Amino acid sequence: MFARCRRTPRPLVSRLIALALFIASPATLGDELNVYSARQEALIKPLLDQFSQENGIKVNLVTGKGDALLTRLQSEGRNSPADVLITTDAGRLYRAQQAGVLQTIQSEFLQQKIPAHLRSEQGYWYGLSVRARAFVYASDRVNPAELSSYNDLADSKWKRRICIRSSSNIYNQSLVASMLANVGEQHTDTWLQGLVANFARPPQGGDRDQIKAVAAGQCDIAVVNSYYFGAMLQSSDEAERDAATRVSIFWPDQDDRGTHINVSGTGVTASAGNPQQARALIEFLARDESQRWYAQTNNEYPVHADIPSSELLQSWGDFKTDPLNVTELGKRNAAAVMAMDRAGWK
Ligand code: FE
Repeated sequence: MFARCRRTPRPLVSRLIALALFIASPATLGDELNVYSARQEALIKPLLDQFSQENGIKVNLVTGKGDALLTRLQSEGRNSPADVLITTDAGRLYRAQQAGVLQTIQSEFLQQKIPAHLRSEQGYWYGLSVRARAFVYASDRVNPAELSSYNDLADSKWKRRICIRSSSNIYNQSLVASMLANVGEQHTDTWLQGLVANFARPPQGGDRDQIKAVAAGQCDIAVVNSYYFGAMLQSSDEAERDAATRVSIFWPDQDDRGTHINVSGTGVTASAGNPQQARALIEFLARDESQRWYAQTNNEYPVHADIPSSELLQSWGDFKTDPLNVTELGKRNAAAVMAMDRAGWK
């Protein structure tokens, strides 16, 4: 037989305090932060551990896909346990801002460490690393002298030679948003028609799959985020390494506005129980040493131009980047999706 346990009632005061704390702060209490991260654990955890060591603040990490984390934040609303969101693409960060799941934070340090065109003007989110949406081309079938700009991808000389993923992908939506911002709707529509007519196959797979398709001869050029090329060159999968060695990288629009770039970034959630600690974490992530590590582990570029990129990325050469404020990518996302639809980009 089990002895029956008699519960002693908790004093009313302690129950009221517990209730008050529960109501006051659905999110973090005390020296603890909850981070929702679209970055894989291996690409962020060591930095968070270092932050914990230096500041005595425990960091709990939840990882997931960018869109899924945003949906989760929205459905949890003000009861969300999250304090900090880390995710990719300014288009998605802007979406989070518009959805009301982020709050503004002001920080002179962040303003100094992160260029103005790579963060939200009001302080809703801050870019932490830069990726370029570049071309990779078949080294044996394309003469780089033939390559020039995104605009040129609409030229009929590339008929059935271009691989690119679907229009549902935020990287492509942001690329089209940058076209809308830079050249206007009419020109973007014409460009999109030409581009879609040059697709080698219906859009499918992710950016790595486009690189593999070029290597396999299914197309001659792909439009991909630069870090995928780096990841494949360093992959433990021999087939990926082999595919990457058959292609070369090209920076579009060097004679014009510069290559389209985007960020991975972070913001404090609207539900954060302790925004000061959350801000401290973001400031830690923006420090020079953190930026360098954060960028290098994912083959990205630091947000501050004074911080050197990895040796591998340096070997790809310097290039001019589009100075467009990445907030424009978010603002023009809906228009970009509609333009891609009009052009029949699946
Ligand atoms: Fe990616």
